[in-house]
Amino acid sequence: MHGLMMNRPLLISALLTHAERHHGTQQVVSRRVEGDLHRYSFAALASRSRQVAKALDAMGLEKGARVATVAWNGYRHLELYYGVSGSGRVLHTLNPRLHPDQLVWIVDHAQDQVLCLDKTFLPLVEAVAARLSTVRHFVLMADRSHMPEASKIPGLVCYEDLIAGQDDAYDWPELDENSASSLCYTSGTTGNPKGVLYSHRSTVLHTFASALPDALNLSARDAILPVVPMFHVNAWGLPYSACMVGAKLVLPGPGLDGKSLHELFEGEGVTLSAGVPTVWQGLLAYVQAQGLKFSSMKRTVIGGSACPPAMMQAFEQGYGVQVIHAWGMTELSPIGTVGTLKGYQQALSAEQQQAIKAKQGRGVFGIDMKIADEAGRELPWDGKASGELMVRGYWVIDQYLKGQASPLVDGWFPTGDVATIDADGFMNITDRSKDVIKSGGEWIGSIDLENIAMAHPAVAMAACVAARHPKWDERPLLIVVKKPGHELSREQMLAFFEGKIARWWTPDDVVFVDAIPLGATGKVQKNRLRDQFGDHLIRQGA
Ligand code: AMP
Repeated sequence: MHGLMMNRPLLISALLTHAERHHGTQQVVSRRVEGDLHRYSFAALASRSRQVAKALDAMGLEKGARVATVAWNGYRHLELYYGVSGSGRVLHTLNPRLHPDQLVWIVDHAQDQVLCLDKTFLPLVEAVAARLSTVRHFVLMADRSHMPEASKIPGLVCYEDLIAGQDDAYDWPELDENSASSLCYTSGTTGNPKGVLYSHRSTVLHTFASALPDALNLSARDAILPVVPMFHVNAWGLPYSACMVGAKLVLPGPGLDGKSLHELFEGEGVTLSAGVPTVWQGLLAYVQAQGLKFSSMKRTVIGGSACPPAMMQAFEQGYGVQVIHAWGMTELSPIGTVGTLKGYQQALSAEQQQAIKAKQGRGVFGIDMKIADEAGRELPWDGKASGELMVRGYWVIDQYLKGQASPLVDGWFPTGDVATIDADGFMNITDRSKDVIKSGGEWIGSIDLENIAMAHPAVAMAACVAARHPKWDERPLLIVVKKPGHELSREQMLAFFEGKIARWWTPDDVVFVDAIPLGATGKVQKNRLRDQFGDHLIRQGA
């Protein structure tokens, strides 16, 4: 017997229609490539997104066709989020920090037919345009006055002209909720990147879950500034969830330095932000150096890499900003776990609470997880046993785009992360499986060592990698960037670990460097560090 309730498909366009009808005057504020601040309402966003949809119709673009973007966080990018997906095409957000050869590979693999770009990225796209054989239209996200006089891209289309040619009388199609809506490629440190193809259904369910109080706790009273780029797993879903809850959306464009961000936080009354730890490092350094405060910001979501406890304390104790530590992946749309406390944990000591919040958090409804040993046997949730983290749920990948074999194992997606889960369901990542340090057959978790090093007042950034060792196979090697104007010796750094970990976990050596290589989404590139320093201990005569 079927239930007798309406069967309305879960569609991305419904998020926009809701925002327009119920929060029509709510604002979207964007720092533009042009240098100024742009401001309009959800009603205007909805109207212009319909113009985008009609313009794509006029181009003769089929349902399911891929429309790529190379763009900052801004209102035109947002219009493409809704206009492209809402009209049944697939939005493919490209990461401009990738190597040009990788971009060419990805565009070809995705068979993108239209490519929309911010003016900043014109030189990048011009350099590869001739190799993008599937792309029929290049669209510069600008008005006529900002079009270049000449471009190496023949027939470069002006975005504002394109949509000005259409009115906004358009009904969003009633698509099958399982149809594809957007596409993101994994950053892939080894091998080619892999395409993760989200559906309307998975996206809307992820949006519901992300807004829950114990997830990101979003509401119509929030002003949300995603620092995380709209090309990094859809800015963790915030462009969708802001419309669902009717929150003000503040988009920082290319202004990602501490000064520009802090000005925007204060000027627009931002209450919630989100980004990877490396971004917050720059912002915190700026705010500390200038003696500034956050007058409106209440919480910030930190994920993408482990949030060092020292950073959490700097936000919470120094500035009264709550840190929401979250773990996710491109394959999970991205949210998997969020580190909000349970009721009884609120009565624990500050120290105990910090230890819980340093973990990656517990599963939100919609995601189930387990840890398994090498034979695939589930391990206990005792906070000690560690194994590969496996997940399944409503917004977890089933197949990669054009993937040959299913990535799943017995219906679970193996994440490649090594973790423990405690009795309260808090998951703690100790490493990526390919980054674990195997010393004499025992595993050493690099994240624990990095978190300790980052708590030293003279350390700006630290990464711990496996270095080959003649006796123990591998031993931990610590790579450190000092804060400007601070002194720190190898001995002082190593002494800082005393009493904090088992003695045999102490790194064998410390290498001081000017910078640690970061990948396209702000994560430390440990494979490059291993290439550079893998033989360090042997060279030192270990
Ligand atoms: P990506 O798909 O590029 O977003 O990368 C996903 C990977 O980032 C995960 O599999 C983790 O290894 C890592 N990651 C994400 N969030 C966290 C976190 N809070 N702590 C530690 N690692 C994280």
